[in-house]
Amino acid sequence: MLIKTSEYLISNEFYDKCPKPNLPEYAFIGRSNVGKSSLINMIANNEKLAKTSGTPGKTTLINHFLINKDWYLVDLPGYGYAKRSMSQRKTWEKMIENYVRKRENLINVFILVDSRHSPQALDLEFVNQLGEWQVPFTLVFTKADKSTQAEVSKNVKAFLNRLRENWEFLPQHFVTSTAKRMGRDAILGFIDEQNAM
Ligand code: GDP
Repeated sequence: MLIKTSEYLISNEFYDKCPKPNLPEYAFIGRSNVGKSSLINMIANNEKLAKTSGTPGKTTLINHFLINKDWYLVDLPGYGYAKRSMSQRKTWEKMIENYVRKRENLINVFILVDSRHSPQALDLEFVNQLGEWQVPFTLVFTKADKSTQAEVSKNVKAFLNRLRENWEFLPQHFVTSTAKRMGRDAILGFIDEQNAM
């Protein structure tokens, strides 16, 4: 897929205030600092689209972008921010649950996982939760340039093995590096396929 246009539309707390669900939608989520903004910018070929920043926790809303006037890309507020209060966490949980379960045009959630680490409880919990809700998702292992290929493979395998404990079918996964522009074609190819269905 060639990206011709990408534009920011709106930020919302409530799924029913999001843009009219008249186009296919793909959401991105992950722990703070996992590389979500960088990945979104790489996919859209627009360095200014999502805000990359050293201060995690800034985004707390559902952010909609329109790509090629053809599909929505959604930047979701992530999890694992140490500085969030209990009530902020509850608000986040409710917002995300409502969005992923009720947004009718949502085709896929890309759950980002840092490829440098062995499986982390927070990521596994979120993945298992989406599985229980039967929300379609794929995994994206980020920052692959930061470790050796063998280390990345080991961490990916370990993560999938942990999922095998609970699930019969394993999700599709991608390995990405924004530093090497790796994984972009695979993700856009996946979106293309889904949009054609
Ligand atoms: P977010 O908080 O999940 O949106 O993460 P950001 O996209 O802001 O990235 C967090 C930090 O990781 C930034 O310093 C990025 O430059 C860096 N980063 C993100 N993706 C990659 C990657 O694929 N490779 C490398 N080497 N650094 C990355």
